[in-house]
Amino acid sequence: MDIIRLLPDSVANQIAAGEVIQRPASCLKELVENSLDAGARTIRVLVRDAGKTLVQVIDDGSGMSTSDARMAFERHATSKIRDAQDLFHLRTMGFRGEALPSICAVAQVKMTTRREPDEVGTLLEIAGSQVQKQEPCQCPVGTSIQVQNLFFNVPARRRFLKSDQTELRNLITTFQHIALVYPDVAFTFAADDEIMYDLPVGTLKQRIEGVFGKSKSKLFTSQLLEIEQQTELVSIRGFVGKPEAANKQAQQLFFVNGRFMRHPYFHKAVLQAYAGMLPAEQLPPYFIYFDISPELIDVNVHPTKTEIKFADEQSIFPILSATVRAALGKFNVVPSIDFLGGDIEIPVANDQMRANAKVPQIHTSTGYNPFTQERERVTPHWQELYEPLKHAAQQPASEPQPLELDDWNKSPLHPQSVAGGYIVCATDNGLMLVHARRAHITILYDRLIAQLQSHHGVSQQLLFPEQLTVSAEERPVLETLLPDLQHIGFELEKVAVNQYDIKALPSVLTNQNAETSIRAILARASDSPTDIREDMQHRIALTLAQSAAIPMGKAMSEAEMTNLLTDLFALPSYRVTPDGKTVITLLDAEEIARRF
Ligand code: ADP
Ligand code: MG
Repeated sequence: MDIIRLLPDSVANQIAAGEVIQRPASCLKELVENSLDAGARTIRVLVRDAGKTLVQVIDDGSGMSTSDARMAFERHATSKIRDAQDLFHLRTMGFRGEALPSICAVAQVKMTTRREPDEVGTLLEIAGSQVQKQEPCQCPVGTSIQVQNLFFNVPARRRFLKSDQTELRNLITTFQHIALVYPDVAFTFAADDEIMYDLPVGTLKQRIEGVFGKSKSKLFTSQLLEIEQQTELVSIRGFVGKPEAANKQAQQLFFVNGRFMRHPYFHKAVLQAYAGMLPAEQLPPYFIYFDISPELIDVNVHPTKTEIKFADEQSIFPILSATVRAALGKFNVVPSIDFLGGDIEIPVANDQMRANAKVPQIHTSTGYNPFTQERERVTPHWQELYEPLKHAAQQPASEPQPLELDDWNKSPLHPQSVAGGYIVCATDNGLMLVHARRAHITILYDRLIAQLQSHHGVSQQLLFPEQLTVSAEERPVLETLLPDLQHIGFELEKVAVNQYDIKALPSVLTNQNAETSIRAILARASDSPTDIREDMQHRIALTLAQSAAIPMGKAMSEAEMTNLLTDLFALPSYRVTPDGKTVITLLDAEEIARRF
């Protein structure tokens, strides 16, 4: 008996849908891309319950005839390519003819569509690949597609969806990435009846400004430099931030032929252009659009993937870097050397830029002094400290002369502060140098993580609540973080859709601007969104530790330094900060001898 059977289409579609439609944001992407392919000038997106109950896209594009409307939901039905050759000249977003059949396999879909010359349009209802209704209807020119109850018939997939906040964030990001490519198309985005974006037709710069919100509009009008470069291989245009616009949450977006892409290698090319101009840990915003002949990129990449292969990445790298560098140079932020005149001219702008670069403002608390409390002396692990040094040495190390730990306990530390921010301790065995601020960050981080995990944050009530207004993008991030923020000692009360009152804050932050601290946390959290709780807690604790730690170069008394070191050595791990920076360095006797 034969046992091989063809799967019914509905089953095949459901399986295929697993690849194309993974979450509400994939529906949004496919539907909006279809609208763009259909030449829409205005596209409206509506979502409900983070897209789980509804994703609707309404366009004023070409619309479809009655039979095309029906055909559109058939597998591999597409009006966009005819043969394999067409694949290499692709300029439309879609081409596989997979999206609509995939969507209707796993959702309840209702579509109305009408072409300009037709008197009446078509209404089509499909659920789980089964056509429920097809009839003429009155509707405007264009197409409206409602995708309801995604995965209603695939409970396993439905359970796989993330929290509403995460799915909404995905929807927003997907929407932003498309809107940033089509400033000549008007877009609106409404979530649960609330308009989050209303983007009229405008210039690219206006669109960037519209997408990234009013809070940052100043940045975009004054701090972006235009880039433009045409070569035979590729054309590059867009905007890059002046060095002073660098920050930790900078938007860094690449697009190729109208699609958002990630490209770590090209990212390096951009950063290379800024070499020496950026404050530590700060990154410049950029919005860079590549146009390249479709033959030179891998077009048959998976529709949900954002990595794109270029045929000749090595050649594009220097072009990109030079283009960005030229823009920075034109703006006079790159030191220029005039060989002909024999003058070496380094414009003051460069230093000024750096001086003006936004460094988080750090206020120290007067009410809280981490150094005043008396603590039990903990034995510093000198021997252990020297171990890696010994191993690092290429030649066999001479007999180490470990300091007796007992001696250590008896002998006071005698820390001295040197060169604005370092502590030095001398011993028979060598010198130990400690970065005071980093040591403090490491200590505070350890405490904050413990508080977060035990839900025992120590908080300080504010006499006058501070107000926090968040943007549409920040809101879902904040909502995700709320429980952890509470555990660490923040007390936030929602007073309006986008507004919170900060009523209390962790006591390490006393006297600091609560809003600034929360913003710093939000920035770091949205850096590369994660659903891993530990990762979020790590970021929260690190951000708070950094804002609360003593600033570099603060004068310290000997007692303060001793306490700091004692606390540091009590930690299970104290050599590097939680973000991997060196806290302690040792100059052993050998190293000292070598220097003479
Ligand atoms: P693809 O976009 O890969 O061709 P889809 O399944 O997304 O495949 O769409 C199938 C076809 O349906 C498209 O080729 C197009 O002809 C038609 N179509 C889909 N959405 C729209 C729309 N909003 N307006 C006009 N035609 C559309
Ligand atoms: Mg499509």
